[in-house]
Amino acid sequence: MARQRLLFGDQLGPHFDDGGQIVLVESRAAFARHRMHRARAHLILTATRHRAAELGGRVELVRADSFRQALDGRELEVIAPTSWRKRDLVALLGADVLPSRGFVTDEEAFAAWASTRKPRSLVMDHFYREVRQREGWLMNGADDPEGGRYSHDADNRQSPPKGKPTLGLPEPWRPTEDDIDAEVRSDLDLWEKQGDVSFLGEDGPRLFAATREEALQALDAFIAHRLAEFGPYEDAMMLGDRTMAHSQLSVPLNLGLLDPREVIERALAAYEAGDAPLAGVEGFVRQLCGWRDWVWHLYWHLGRDYMTAPGALGAVEPLPRELWELDGAAVRARCLSDSLDAVRETGWAHHIQRLMVIGNFALQRGFDPVELTGWFTDAFVDGTPWVMPANVFGMSQHADGGIVATKPYAAGGAYINRMSDYCHSCEFDPRKRLGDDACPFTAGYWAFLDRVEPAIKDNHRMKQTLAGLRRLSDREAVVEQEKHRTSW
Ligand SMILES: Cc1cc2nc3c(=O)[nH]c(=O)nc-3n(C[C@H](O)[C@H](O)[C@H](O)COP(=O)(O)OP(=O)(O)OC[C@H]3O[C@@H](n4cnc5c(N)ncnc54)[C@H](O)[C@@H]3O)c2cc1C
Ligand code: SF4
Repeated sequence: MARQRLLFGDQLGPHFDDGGQIVLVESRAAFARHRMHRARAHLILTATRHRAAELGGRVELVRADSFRQALDGRELEVIAPTSWRKRDLVALLGADVLPSRGFVTDEEAFAAWASTRKPRSLVMDHFYREVRQREGWLMNGADDPEGGRYSHDADNRQSPPKGKPTLGLPEPWRPTEDDIDAEVRSDLDLWEKQGDVSFLGEDGPRLFAATREEALQALDAFIAHRLAEFGPYEDAMMLGDRTMAHSQLSVPLNLGLLDPREVIERALAAYEAGDAPLAGVEGFVRQLCGWRDWVWHLYWHLGRDYMTAPGALGAVEPLPRELWELDGAAVRARCLSDSLDAVRETGWAHHIQRLMVIGNFALQRGFDPVELTGWFTDAFVDGTPWVMPANVFGMSQHADGGIVATKPYAAGGAYINRMSDYCHSCEFDPRKRLGDDACPFTAGYWAFLDRVEPAIKDNHRMKQTLAGLRRLSDREAVVEQEKHRTSW
């Protein structure tokens, strides 16, 4: 059999295809391994089958119980896959491995950069500056960033507009389903009925791009209708506006349908044409060539053993049923209930809902960070093994003791109240830490600090916060109350 390029389900765009023979594999067992969001399973399968249809005679789509079974004995080449598990697999198969694609910076360049720094001095902002300088993006000279600063984050933290239920932007781009989508949905029904797989959440209609053509349409729509508003409300949350000005491009990016470079170049072109302001464009560019590349490189750099329970903060609680069932209705806290509903209904929630609501809740309640990382990977349509360790275990749970983030991303109800309109319609009061209507995030924040004080007492960024804890007159009562809290 002629040499084939094996493409994984996150390598489906043109930048993974150099024109030769291709093999794609569909393994039912891969969906049986975890109880993942059904919309995610649908996206992976429909994207793979659409790609196979596009490639016609150049592709062989193999359906098999496992990748090993499908591929043993073939002469293969691959573009370096995106997880430890897949890299082990291609090593076993004896495939020729080409350098990874689908990120702005390559692994060798990052390794060289990181080798000159101490493990705890790896700072995203420094990495991002280097990328900007190397690429010349939003630069006027070697070290002269457009607007005089590399980061315009300080301009991008506005509260949601008062008295408005939404940002008032056009509806986000949505695809039209076709026969392949319908076929995948009926296969998933059958697999579930046969008891082979079990899923989380609701599936359909499909909300995210699964083909190159759709991905380009979604990108066009974001640039035309959302990019200009991306910056100011990047950190805000609104009950009536689930998408806000976010791009929702993480799915086509993580399926490999879009290359981050082309997305960045489109955003820069909009800035140069005067269609979007600097602060928002810089913020968006930073998400892609800063954060996205950063967590990708950290996945390899921090190694296979990076995540070990219970982590630096001794978090051992099992995840509650409400998370595993994505049961927003069983949650009284408006912010958490809406965020879980969003995940159940769509498999997607925006960054601040992930970090400052769900992640913050898990951090405060001491949920096992390894279990939580698995939950995020399975429950989100854009979940991938490489994106989660740094984002969840590191940034959101501070379980690595401060490698990814220098202090825990913990916040009380005052923060959520400032950055959202959730609290107006919540039965809890964000100002209260004691009593029946005490906000679980406000009280939970102090109870969390009380629990982790010994572990973070030497962190200079937490000194003021801990001083506040020590001054709290009702500290013991709050801790006692939260110990017995049975619902949120
Ligand atoms: C707890 C937690 C879990 C997360 N889980 C995922 C995940 O499963 N998959 C995923 O791709 N991202 C994840 N992120 C990062 C980020 O929240 C999502 O990329 C973003 O919300 C996706 O929506 P969007 O495409 O509208 O993003 P936008 O707000 O429009 O941002 C543009 C793009 O920047 C990239 N990006 C921004 N921040 C990050 C980041 N921290 N890590 C990686 N990429 C980033 C994404 O590709 C995103 O599409 C997670 C973050 C946290 C804190
Ligand atoms: S009051 Fe507390 S629980 Fe309710 S929405 Fe606000 S932060 Fe969330």
